[in-house]
Amino acid sequence: MTGTAGGSGAGARSGAGARSGTGAGEPMNPGPVGPGGLVDLHTHSSCSDGSLEPAALAQLAAARGVGTLALTDHDSVAGLQAAAEVCRAGGVRFVPGVELSCDWHGQEIHVVGLNIDAEDAVLLAHCAEVGRLRRTRMQRMGERLTAVGLPGEALTTAALSAGVATRRHLARSLVARGLARDLQDAFERYLRRGRPGYADIAWPELRRTVECIGGAGGVAVLAHPHRYGLSVSQLGALVAEFKALGGEGLEVSLAGMGRPDSSRAEALAQRFGLAGSVGSDFHEPGLPWRPLGRFAKLPSAIRPITASLDP
Ligand SMILES: [Zn+2]
Ligand SMILES: [Zn+2]
Repeated sequence: MTGTAGGSGAGARSGAGARSGTGAGEPMNPGPVGPGGLVDLHTHSSCSDGSLEPAALAQLAAARGVGTLALTDHDSVAGLQAAAEVCRAGGVRFVPGVELSCDWHGQEIHVVGLNIDAEDAVLLAHCAEVGRLRRTRMQRMGERLTAVGLPGEALTTAALSAGVATRRHLARSLVARGLARDLQDAFERYLRRGRPGYADIAWPELRRTVECIGGAGGVAVLAHPHRYGLSVSQLGALVAEFKALGGEGLEVSLAGMGRPDSSRAEALAQRFGLAGSVGSDFHEPGLPWRPLGRFAKLPSAIRPITASLDP
């Protein structure tokens, strides 16, 4: 989900600790893998809706002290090879990943797949199918914007020429044309469910999505549980089903995730025996609440998902 402006405090605080690196002892989010430094298992490049090319993202990660990096573009594995090459050259451990959108009882859910085989035929077919769904939906969103007097066709040009057509592309176009103040405003006014530019999309089911990740040799991680607007009991039901389907991890620490949300996620991870994952959900350098590689430390009671990523 996009357009969420979480608080920036946690990221800034953890960033200071992160930069201290080895000085005080433990690196952030210590795990048994990686060459040390920060662990960031949720990032986006221009192969989906991020602003940096995969290679530039990997270079920035290395410069920011990220020792283990996953690229997890939306429904795309197109950037993995380029990012992997830069990581290899820069001594960063690279985890090939993807973030798949899916449906759980009418709710859009995101599942991150880590350590996936980017050449898995079923995964590639899945991404291609979702890509078609996204383009169709983007055309409908353009039509809906046109219907309220906006230049829908022009606004959707960037999204439809991108590798993956996302609402974030459309939000950027709205901002660029002065039709919204910023990305969040674009979502609030036009792009959220129920707003004039919103069009629905029939995402693949959660079950199929988790199976797809497992079939590609990956580890399925439920992304940003705090951003779905679910009640505590609904979230519990989601996590229970995710676990039953073979899900292995839950994002418990994300840039911009407040302490109450982190605590709830940690409790869910412990209750359902899921490993904890961490990441920035980085999209672009200019957004301060999602700084690459900086987020709160994974509590020692939570088993790090990195332990499941050992070769
Ligand atoms: Zn997401
Ligand atoms: Zn994401």
